[in-house]
Amino acid sequence: MAKSIAILGAGVSGLTCGTVFAERGLSTRIFAEQIGTQTTSGAAGALWFPYDAEPADKVIPWALATYKVLVNLAAARGSIGPDKLDCLKQSSFQTGVSMIELRQYCRTGKILVPEWANSLGVRILGNPEEPPSSNRRAVEHSGIEVTAPCLFSEGFSLRVPLMDTAIYVDYLIDRFQKAGGEIESGVRFENLEDIDPKFDFIINCAGIGARELARDPDLEPHRGQVAIVPKPDNLDCAIVCDDDPLMYVIPRTNDCVFGGTNEVSDDWNPDPSTTKAIVAECSRVLEIESPRVLRERVGLRPFRKSGVRLENGKLRDGRTVIHNYGHGGSGFTLSWGCAENVFELLG
Ligand SMILES: Cc1cc2nc3c(=O)[nH]c(=O)nc-3n(C[C@H](O)[C@H](O)[C@H](O)COP(=O)(O)OP(=O)(O)OC[C@H]3O[C@@H](n4cnc5c(N)ncnc54)[C@H](O)[C@@H]3O)c2cc1C
Repeated sequence: MAKSIAILGAGVSGLTCGTVFAERGLSTRIFAEQIGTQTTSGAAGALWFPYDAEPADKVIPWALATYKVLVNLAAARGSIGPDKLDCLKQSSFQTGVSMIELRQYCRTGKILVPEWANSLGVRILGNPEEPPSSNRRAVEHSGIEVTAPCLFSEGFSLRVPLMDTAIYVDYLIDRFQKAGGEIESGVRFENLEDIDPKFDFIINCAGIGARELARDPDLEPHRGQVAIVPKPDNLDCAIVCDDDPLMYVIPRTNDCVFGGTNEVSDDWNPDPSTTKAIVAECSRVLEIESPRVLRERVGLRPFRKSGVRLENGKLRDGRTVIHNYGHGGSGFTLSWGCAENVFELLG
C-alpha cells in the first residue's frame, strides 16, 4: 500500500519536505498551527548562508546541496522573457529566488573566510586605510579586491541565492499543492501521537515547537528581530556584519530587510527600541537618513545545542517519526539538502 505521510509544520522545512514528497507521488498532508509567512520562516532574511547551526560536517553538505537547487530556481525565474511578465506575476513560476552579491564584513582585524566559500568564488574586500600588502587573502583567493566601507576592517564577497520570503513561501505552498499535497492550518498539537492514525509516517518539522512536541530541552530560541523598510536607491548587494552589534541589510524585490538581533528569548513581540537601534545602525552603514519602517518582524531561530536533529524515531504508538528540526539561523540554507535526506530515511 502507498505510504501516507503527515508533516507537522508549515515553515520552510515542512513546505520543502512536502514539495519533495508530493512531487515523488507520496500522499502528503501538512498540519500546522501557523503557515508560511506567519512562522519564523516568514521573518527570515532569507539569504543562503550557513549561520548559527551545528554541526559543520553535516551543515555544509546540506547547505551546498541546497545551493544547487536554489541556483536553478533563480535561473528558472530569470529565463522568463518580458513578454511573459504578466503571467509571471500571477503564476507559480515566480519563485522569489534570485542571486545576489553578499558582502560579509568584520569590524576589526581580519575576516575569517570559511573553507567552503572557496568553491563559490569568494573575493576579499579590503579596507582602503590599510596598505595593500596586508590584504594577504586577496592574493590567496586571487580575488578582485573591492574596498570595504571604513566602518569595517575587512570582508569578503560571494554570490548567493536570496529567497524573498514574501514570494518564495507562497511559491512553495503553490508547488506543494499543485503536486497533490494538502495543508491544514490553524491546528495545534500537544503530542505527535495525536496526528490521525491513518498516517503511517510523521515528519516533525516544528521548528522551536519541537521543544515541547519532542520534549527536547536542547532546543534554544535564538530570537531575531528585523525591520522591513522601503528599498534604498541603488542598493544591489546584501551587507552583513556578524560582529556586535549584528547588522544586515538585504534588498529584496519590493522592500529591504534591516537586521538584526540574536538573543536567547521566547518573546515574539517586536521591541520598538530595538527596531530604532537596528534602523540607526543600518542607516549609518549605508550612509543614508533613517527610512520609515513598513513592518517589524520577530522569529525564533530553532537552535539546537547538539546540532540539527535529522533522524528516525518511534512514536509511543509504534509509528515512525522522522525529526527534521533545529536548523537555527540556517533553515532556508539547509532546506533542500535536509528534505532529500528525510526522503532517503523514508526508505
Ligand atoms: C530574523 C531572522 C533572520 C533569519 N535569516 C535567515 C537567513 O538569512 N537564512 C536562513 O537560511 N535562515 C534564516 N533564519 C532562520 C530560519 O528562519 C529558520 O531556520 C527557519 O525558519 C526554520 O524553519 P522551520 O520550518 O524549521 O520552522 P518554523 O518556520 O518555525 O516553522 C515551524 C512550523 O511548525 C508549526 N508548529 C510548531 N509547533 C506546533 C504545534 N505544537 N502544533 C502545530 N503546529 C506547530 C508552526 O506553526 C510552523 O508552521 C532567520 C531567522 C530569523 C528569526
